[in-house]
Amino acid sequence: MQNVKEKWLKIANVYYVLFALGVLGVYAYFAYKQQTPDIKIEEYGLSSLTAIVAIATIAYCLIILPFIKRYSIWIGYVTGFAFYGMLCSVATEQAIGGPYELYFLVLILTINIFAALYGLAAGMSVIGLIAIIFAMEISNTTEPTSFGLHFDAIYSLLRSSLTVVLIILLRKYYVTQLSDKNNYIEKYLVKNEVVKLLTNSLSDGVIIIDQNEVIRSINPAAVNILGQEAKDILDLNYRSVLKLKNSDGSNISQDKEPISKAIAEKQSIQQELLLPKNGNDIFIDIAVSVITNEDNQNLYGAVITLRDISTKKKEEAAKSEFISTASHEMRTPVAAIEGYLALALNPNVSKIDPKTKTFLQKAYASTQHLGQLFQDLLISTRAEDGRIVSHPEVTEIGEIMQKQAEYFAVVAQKKGIQLEFIISTVNMQNNSKAIRPLYYTYADPARIQEVTNNLIDNAIKYTEAGKVTIGLTGDRNVVQIFIKDTGMGIEAEDIPHLFQKFYRVDNSATRTTSGTGLGLFICRKIVELYKGQIWVQSKKGQGSTFYINLPRLDSSQAKAKMMHDTARTDK
Ligand code: ADP
Repeated sequence: MQNVKEKWLKIANVYYVLFALGVLGVYAYFAYKQQTPDIKIEEYGLSSLTAIVAIATIAYCLIILPFIKRYSIWIGYVTGFAFYGMLCSVATEQAIGGPYELYFLVLILTINIFAALYGLAAGMSVIGLIAIIFAMEISNTTEPTSFGLHFDAIYSLLRSSLTVVLIILLRKYYVTQLSDKNNYIEKYLVKNEVVKLLTNSLSDGVIIIDQNEVIRSINPAAVNILGQEAKDILDLNYRSVLKLKNSDGSNISQDKEPISKAIAEKQSIQQELLLPKNGNDIFIDIAVSVITNEDNQNLYGAVITLRDISTKKKEEAAKSEFISTASHEMRTPVAAIEGYLALALNPNVSKIDPKTKTFLQKAYASTQHLGQLFQDLLISTRAEDGRIVSHPEVTEIGEIMQKQAEYFAVVAQKKGIQLEFIISTVNMQNNSKAIRPLYYTYADPARIQEVTNNLIDNAIKYTEAGKVTIGLTGDRNVVQIFIKDTGMGIEAEDIPHLFQKFYRVDNSATRTTSGTGLGLFICRKIVELYKGQIWVQSKKGQGSTFYINLPRLDSSQAKAKMMHDTARTDK
């Protein structure tokens, strides 16, 4: 029943209000004409009681319903319908008299609702029931009409049958969409032999759910992945079977859970997540494709494909473990070579002829590059499987940026580039002094320094002449760092790939500058670790601006977090 579109219930609700307003209007007219609220107009079923019920109906539909809807939409609207039914019944009772009539009509109206929702057969049974009551009424003692039937019995029969017919017609909008959807899944996916044959032969798990989130079909591969028998899975809500978790083992929030997200947004989603199986968590690749009608309006259900990628993940982990161990081990001898070469190049330590000096200088530069490559490789493999060493604390970004600007001003100067540091300031009211705001965030200062190092280093590296600007700004929620240069800029087609691993723009400038293509990838991973964003705006030949947004803490939040951290370390 929860699949009845709320739009239709809302329309019905508006109708009840308009009907009750109409009744009240006519009542007010007669009360005004007769100069008393205590009227009784039987032709229209009007009395002060009818007016009270009309007011109650309006009050319910306009004032009380919005509150009840928060708990249950269905109870809210059905109660609205009951108020309307009561109003009809009281009006009819006032029109034709007879105390039994009221209960009789309420009963019929209630049956009507269920008749409308549960199908034509139920509707017909209601008409049959009315016919029986009608027959019983004929045997009543009051005066029959000229053709032997009681007027009120005919009236009841006509009105009730009309209501049933009307609601059955409305039902087309209320409920048939629901059954069409179920039929679609049933006919084309669940009962279809070709689909069955195909899905049964697949090595990927396939689960078909309907729009009520109920599992309607499951192939043997999915049974295997889930480690439960098909009969224990079918006809259950998918949530009780697929208890998905984030890849770090944490519980997945409702809005991120791929199946409900795909259904809500009516689009396909693919993700790598964890699935508990026999007490362990296995890695699965889950793809959800929604099934909708042609204009993507009506959702019929969804097809969920599952692939067990635990082995692949284990192999990947072993591979990155190897890379990280190898780069760690190789860094030591490279550092030794670098050290000895530096000694050889030091005129106070050794005397070498100029030709040898140029060779050694080249060897020294290459060794430094190799050392950087190992360092980057180590960090990027750690970044990939979420093992970046991070000790977050309350960090004031302004202080870090100030130091960075001072350090890099010297580097830039050597290349003939100007380096400027801009930080937005606030003028104090009673003091003419301008003070700079404090930009607090919760992150490891060493990691933030690594990110900004990388960006400023790139800005200087890829700028031949002009200026590099380091800026810090923000609002209540965000600290924003930007690094702007007047350098060579980046081609639009390269921008989406810049933050990927090993991506280097292929042009004459990058061919002559050393780099690993890992810097920006590491920057992105670190920024994401602190729930921030990193992006670039650039045009070929017109320089680039790299932006970083980090969540900002205000001074009181920063103080509270600092105290909390100190208390934790004291324990
Ligand atoms: P690299 O070690 O090559 O500098 P990065 O990941 O730091 O690796 O950068 C990737 C690529 O992005 C670089 O090779 C370069 O082509 C481009 N790039 C980065 N920063 C800038 C910049 N400020 N101006 C122009 N191009 C840039």
